[in-house]
Amino acid sequence: MSPVRYNHLKEFNNHKLVISLYGESGDLIGFIAIHRGSYKSPSFGATRIWSYSSDVNALKDALRLSRLMSYKAALAGLPYGGAKAVLFADAKNADERSLLIKTYAQKINYLRGSFITGADVGVNEDDLKMMRKESKYIVGVSTDPVKFTVLGIYYSLQVCLREKFGTDSLQGRSFAIQGLGKTGYSLLKILYKDAAKIIVCDIDEKKVASVKKEFPNISVVSPSEIFKQKVDVYSPCALGNVFTAKSVTTLKCKIIVGPANNQLATDKIGDIIFQKGILYAPDYVVNAGGLIAVVQEYEDPKVSDLKIAKKVLGIKKTMKLIVEQSKLQKVPTNRIADQMAEKIFNTYN
Ligand code: NAD
Repeated sequence: MSPVRYNHLKEFNNHKLVISLYGESGDLIGFIAIHRGSYKSPSFGATRIWSYSSDVNALKDALRLSRLMSYKAALAGLPYGGAKAVLFADAKNADERSLLIKTYAQKINYLRGSFITGADVGVNEDDLKMMRKESKYIVGVSTDPVKFTVLGIYYSLQVCLREKFGTDSLQGRSFAIQGLGKTGYSLLKILYKDAAKIIVCDIDEKKVASVKKEFPNISVVSPSEIFKQKVDVYSPCALGNVFTAKSVTTLKCKIIVGPANNQLATDKIGDIIFQKGILYAPDYVVNAGGLIAVVQEYEDPKVSDLKIAKKVLGIKKTMKLIVEQSKLQKVPTNRIADQMAEKIFNTYN
């Protein structure tokens, strides 16, 4: 088997460490990428399990996501580096999946706490508990990161609504939610009572049917139609690379705010969104609530929800600053956020 090389990939950003993970039978099961941080202090990043079309695509995802985690930590005021793990969703049955998760969690122990991880896309509560049994470097066990991720999204939404409509009220506002997983579902719950209209989609038809049953007033469209919806707010709650040169041309929203990581396929897409007059809330700024929660849990396993919520409120302040600077400098919000984050993490990494 030839090893996957990474230093020629454009996603490689002088990462501190990239590890290929092999399972019991010698098959490649995934990657851990540590972007910034030091062996003296941990780097944080959740674990994703996904059906990648190739080893290289999985590696690219790990490289890009770990980089984003460094930016996220910096702007959230957390003195840690960014990391990420991705695993292949190849398991054919529950036993194979348990073996994958146990093997992976045991391998985390070899890093002796340099890498701290939790649940991202494709990892559920049971998986996380299984990982925690094997490794003490698993977080999101005594806190609920999703709750705080969505709280940060809500605060950021308020900033964006006020900027565009002069009020942060949800009344009369319309939304498109792409993805009804842990975060999309929680966001829907918050919006449902007051929003005028909510349009949703997910590739998982069973999930869509059960959510529609619980929230009968929502409208459902196919994943390919969600971009075209004429709504006030578009919320990406699925995977990354949502906004590409093609998909941005169809956008008819006024605000983009959602938890998905790496929403912009490239930085230039942020320029196009800006030129279209759409207010883009940078992904890693607004979705830092979950990271804030797990870092607090790591530092103090008995931390209260109140203490975490207070820290998550900082996202609102950062978002306001980014919007102000974007207007003042006439520079897209994603570029303002990047400049702010790089200034911070380049000083300590
Ligand atoms: P999840 O796995 O619980 O949900 C993702 C959902 O998106 C699934 O229901 C899946 O079927 C759906 N989906 C996938 N591709 C789709 C497509 N093309 N169109 C429509 N739906 C699609 O994941 P999650 O925890 O809700 O995370 C969602 C995003 O938010 C991810 O990008 C994740 O990295 C990011 N994020 C999550 C957290 C958190 O606390 N969970 C924190 C920060 C960022």
